[in-house]
Amino acid sequence: MIHIIFFGPPGSGKGTQANYISEKFKFFHLSTGEMFRKHVIEQTLLGNIVQTYMSKGLLVPDEVTTNMFKEELNKHNNIKGLIYDGYPRTLNQAKNLDEILKKKFLEKINLSIFFSIKDEILIKRLSKRSKISGRLDDSSILIIQNRITEYHKKTKPISDFYKEKKCLITIKAEGSIYQVKKRLENVILKKLK
Ligand code: AMP
Repeated sequence: MIHIIFFGPPGSGKGTQANYISEKFKFFHLSTGEMFRKHVIEQTLLGNIVQTYMSKGLLVPDEVTTNMFKEELNKHNNIKGLIYDGYPRTLNQAKNLDEILKKKFLEKINLSIFFSIKDEILIKRLSKRSKISGRLDDSSILIIQNRITEYHKKTKPISDFYKEKKCLITIKAEGSIYQVKKRLENVILKKLK
C-alpha cells in the first residue's frame, strides 16, 4: 500500500489534484477539510466545535483533528493507496500520522508532496474561488490572510520533518490544473516503479 501526503498552502490546488490523482490511480482520498465541512453541514457535536475555528481561518486543535482522522481511517481497509489531503498540518499531526501508520499497517509515508506557490497567486485564486465555492473561509480577505498565516506558522515547518525522512518532493503548483496534474503523475509513477 502506498501513502502519499499532499501538503501546501490553502488554494494551492491540493483538493482538486487529489480528486484527479485518486481517480486515476484508484487510491483512496482522505480530506480532513471535507470531513469537517460534512460535520458542520450535518450540525453534529464535532461540527459545532470545529465551525468556530474554520470560520476564522484557524486550524482545528490537533487532538480533535487526529481523533476524527483516526476514526475515518479505521473505516477503510483493503485499499491500494491513500492520498492524505490536508492532514497532517502541524508537526504534532505529522508525528501522530507516523505512529498511526506504524500501528495500523506496519508502514510509513512513501511520499510527501509539497505544493509550492507564491502567496500573491493564492490570494487571487482564493478570492476568485469565493465567488463559486460558497465556502465561508473563502469569503473575506481577512479570513484568507489568517489561513495563509496559519499555514506559514504551523504547516510549512513539516517540510523539514519529511526532508529528514527523505520522502519530500516539491512540485510547482503554479500553472494550469492540467500542468500540475502531469507533474504529479510523473512523480507518483516514478515512485510506483
Ligand atoms: P481545507 O478544506 O483542507 O482547506 O480545510 C478547511 C479548514 O478545515 C482549515 O482551514 C482548518 O480550519 C480545518 N482543517 C482541515 N484539516 C485540518 C488539519 N489537518 N488540522 C487542523 N485543521 C484542519
